[in-house]
Amino acid sequence: MNKNKDEVISPLDFFDDYDQESVEKPELKVAKSGRRERRPAVQRTQSRRGPVKKGRAFFISATDTGVGKTTAIKVIATLLKDQGLDVGVMKPVQCGGDDAKALKEFLQITDPLEEINPYLAKEPLSPHVAFRRDKIQVHRDKIISIFQKLRRRHDVVLVEGAGGLLVPIREDYCMADLAKDLELELLIVSRLGLGTINHTLLTIDKARELGIMVAGVIFSETEKKVHGVPERTNPATIRHLRKVAGLGIIPFCEDLSVETILKVCKSKIDLKLFLAQPASKKTAQLREGDKNFLWHPFTPMKDWLESDPLIIDRAQGCHLIDTEGRRYLDGVSSLWVNVHGHNHPQITAAIKDQLNRLDHSTLLGLSNTPAVELAKKLVAIAPKGLEKVFYSDNGSTAVEVAIKMAYQYWQNSGRLEKTQLVHLANSYHGDTLGSVSVGGIDLFHHVYQKLTFPTVKIDFPDGYRNQDFEAAMNQLQELLKKSADKIAALIVEPLVQGAAGMIVWPEGLLKRMKDLCEQHEVFLIADEVATGFGRTGKMFACEHEEVVPDFLCLAKGLTGGTLPLAATLTTKKVFEGFLFDTKDQKTFFHGHTYTGNPLACAAALANLKVFSVEHTLSRLQSKIALMREKLKKLEQLLHVGQVRQKGMMVGIELVKDKQSKQPFALQEKIGFAVCQQARQRGVILRPLGNVIVLMPPLAISKRELDYLLQVVYRAIENLGQTSRLKGTVPGGSST
Ligand SMILES: *Cc1c(COP(=O)(O)O)cnc(C)c1O
Repeated sequence: MNKNKDEVISPLDFFDDYDQESVEKPELKVAKSGRRERRPAVQRTQSRRGPVKKGRAFFISATDTGVGKTTAIKVIATLLKDQGLDVGVMKPVQCGGDDAKALKEFLQITDPLEEINPYLAKEPLSPHVAFRRDKIQVHRDKIISIFQKLRRRHDVVLVEGAGGLLVPIREDYCMADLAKDLELELLIVSRLGLGTINHTLLTIDKARELGIMVAGVIFSETEKKVHGVPERTNPATIRHLRKVAGLGIIPFCEDLSVETILKVCKSKIDLKLFLAQPASKKTAQLREGDKNFLWHPFTPMKDWLESDPLIIDRAQGCHLIDTEGRRYLDGVSSLWVNVHGHNHPQITAAIKDQLNRLDHSTLLGLSNTPAVELAKKLVAIAPKGLEKVFYSDNGSTAVEVAIKMAYQYWQNSGRLEKTQLVHLANSYHGDTLGSVSVGGIDLFHHVYQKLTFPTVKIDFPDGYRNQDFEAAMNQLQELLKKSADKIAALIVEPLVQGAAGMIVWPEGLLKRMKDLCEQHEVFLIADEVATGFGRTGKMFACEHEEVVPDFLCLAKGLTGGTLPLAATLTTKKVFEGFLFDTKDQKTFFHGHTYTGNPLACAAALANLKVFSVEHTLSRLQSKIALMREKLKKLEQLLHVGQVRQKGMMVGIELVKDKQSKQPFALQEKIGFAVCQQARQRGVILRPLGNVIVLMPPLAISKRELDYLLQVVYRAIENLGQTSRLKGTVPGGSST
């Protein structure tokens, strides 16, 4: 990769070269008619970028040492070569012996030995001991970068492990970790004969538990003997018990030469696995399936059908990985949900453990362990005074619950006039009709207006073109003074109005709202669906101003971004407003089928545990400061009107003209264009109209954060060129 002084340095460098050139000069062609071309240049270049894989690669691990891994590789590679494939091998770490050299010679591979075997220790010991005794440091990144090189060079690369999957390479890094980091499917070599079922099943189970895909098992006959019952039945037993592909049995050969392999093994080994269709064909099929069967949320589907959708297949930490193995930094936490990185081992384990005990049981008439434990924990961390937890499944329902509870509280207590809900302009509380009724984003909500119930809207400034927050507070005060006896509740997104484009409130506003509500006996509903769980730098946004709302709505980050779950917390006072005899019919008649789902609750408990074990919030503070520092540079860009930040929530408002604050027209899809540019550099973003949103997982490293901001800088900087072309930008959505 070309590293000029001001070139973007990618933390993903060792995964692959990013095709800088194609990004520097976006050639957005607009056909004469003004209609876009079907296959825009941007997307053509995208398919050239990323780890361009020539073929497939496999991690070969045995159930134990001395099972015949190297022999298996010789056999498979020879047979594949016989099929006309170019085969490469790699033995990342080797302790004693000369397997790598032998493989190179046997298979006549021209790659240098240092690439086939970058790390060699003298003694035949476990690698973590052998390399320490030789005073050699094994570097993961070096192995990965060499591997990527080999992978581009050959049709198939076979990577040989050392010992079994859990053999440590370093104290903190084992063979399985390497297989995962190389993103390889696993091929298990198992000894043919008595006593192998257990070892093989354990290896398969452990691999699957760790998220490593098991491609198949190949059996190796390690000595010449007459086949008894185990030899005849074990392969079938293993295949049947774990539903894995069996590649066949490598017979024992006195003299293993290319000729004997071709003569003896050819008919016994099934190569289907290696000859399977390449990923790009699979991607094409998935894209077709997507367009045939899916309807995407908040997405102009006409544009979508003309685009080449990116299909995510896996994730690792703060990265999403597509079906072709390209990695992308998850710049918006998978729509504001992910907290500690994807597939966090502790949360994953908690979900698995829970799944082994209880999948689901209803909260209607029953209770369950994780639901109780989570409720207790949420009450403990929430602002003091919120003592009851009502579960649902998503942010919108968490808001519906709060609205209905607030309304019914006053009904139950005989104050039948207190029915109205007050909300702010530009507010967003979800997409169900109740939450749309209190929503204020015209683009989303206008069309459904006749389906919604009437509410009272406070004209609230956007903090950029209009900064008169005092006027809004006066309006609220007057309203409450005059009509509090008709008002049930005020609902707000405290401190940051997310979907409105990350409007950040001036300090003290929330506290003043709370005081006004208290003074006039109006409930305050704090919708912290977006701001909750550390996004603003504290666990909840309300904590910044020591506000205890009457209702706290939580969802998005509640499970760390793993499973859908929501909670509405409220006070004892509200709860007691529903304690009547059944015959009075003052029960809260609301509940969703999956309320209190044990798996989701277990995930949420683990999420909270990770917050304390990893000191997420205290470690976050320097990242927030780094972000603030780096964002300053963006403010100087020609098309950046305003940069808004609260904690890890960032909105960058793009404008056509900085002086007059003239916005880009919506149909220019400028936010979308910037996000497409970022995607070329391996960053996933999703804009809100003309606002670029950055909301990375709290677990993001400083290096990744730095990369994210550099990519965004470049993408916005390039806007100068793009907008001069005056072309519309193809594909996807612009909401
Ligand atoms: C996302 C969001 C919602 C809606 O949550 P869903 O899970 O999408 O229903 C509600 N309120 C706020 C503040 C949000 O950001």
